[in-house]
Amino acid sequence: MPISPSSALHLVFDPLFLQHRSRGYHPERPERLTAARRGVSAVEAEGVKLVPLPPRDASEAEILRAHDAGYLDELRQLAGKYAALDADTYLAPASVDAAIRGAGGAVALVDALLAAGPGDARQGVALLRPPGHHATRDQGMGFCLLNNIAIAAASAVAAGVGRVAIVDWDVHHGNGTQDIFWSDGRVLFISLHEAPLYPGTGAARDVGEGAGRGRIVNVPLPAAADDTVYRLAFEEVVLPALRRFAPELVLISAGFDAHARDPLASMQLTGVGYGWMGRALRAIADESAGGRIGAVLEGGYDLTALEESTAASLRGVLGWPVPEPPSADARPVSARHRAAIEAARQASEAGAGAAATGPGGEVVGGGAVGGGAGARVDEP
Ligand SMILES: [Zn+2]
Repeated sequence: MPISPSSALHLVFDPLFLQHRSRGYHPERPERLTAARRGVSAVEAEGVKLVPLPPRDASEAEILRAHDAGYLDELRQLAGKYAALDADTYLAPASVDAAIRGAGGAVALVDALLAAGPGDARQGVALLRPPGHHATRDQGMGFCLLNNIAIAAASAVAAGVGRVAIVDWDVHHGNGTQDIFWSDGRVLFISLHEAPLYPGTGAARDVGEGAGRGRIVNVPLPAAADDTVYRLAFEEVVLPALRRFAPELVLISAGFDAHARDPLASMQLTGVGYGWMGRALRAIADESAGGRIGAVLEGGYDLTALEESTAASLRGVLGWPVPEPPSADARPVSARHRAAIEAARQASEAGAGAAATGPGGEVVGGGAVGGGAGARVDEP
């Protein structure tokens, strides 16, 4: 299906997100958000109309779809203080307010995508801090306090969306999002990440449990994966899993720390790879989700890379023409990268087979390859 380029983009941004700042140097710093915002401005200068979404806090009910009440209480008690959840994860006086506003921003983005009628923008980006994908149900970690994208996906599910896909291309495994949707079944979570690397989770064999079996797809990749390796992983694992699932909404955990310039990891992605991945996910959104796709900022610690990659991925998400990375036929892919992708493909297909049959062996979903929304029988 040809993609028709979009001309408008929802944008979540709030100066409150800049007030989450550690006392000493920390790589997760406000300047990151300013850099990502410059990336959005670059795309605006190329002709997209930005549709700013009014900032709002996430409600307690929204947060509790993804987090335990005890953890939320713990965070609230730290509001207004300098504190640390662990050696990596700081809180400044405004941090809890920023986290609640950030989660609300992600929900606002999903609400806007779901409400979009004919002619309305169906793509968007939430530029927020602190990031979220490491936060589990009961624990903030890895610079993350509240799991923004999980709260947003759970909000979509609560609004009646039966199938939400989250693709996490941050270089670190999205352990928190996996934890929250491990046995859910209504959210497909796909993470590509460097392994070994923090937080050490995300093995290919981890595919979810119960109703969530087959709904977790992990693609751990050895260091030095470049645009070609990521393209191959998309073609072999990510895109087939998405087409089997036929999401009604596509969300991206958009970290940019797999960029070659990033100081915290050792991957070799460039803006070309991010643009291509954005466009590939836009194609999925057009196939089964009415074009609805939103990106939520996660990590990314080189400011130049953040600006470039934000712009590049949004061009792809908007369906604009983007450069194509060399395919694995045109450029050598190392044996260890090929082996990692093959292991992830096998685990994903085995998990999908398990997901297609319930405990009694009856087919309960998962079979409508290329089917549109509503083409599948939803799980009970
Ligand atoms: Zn990361």
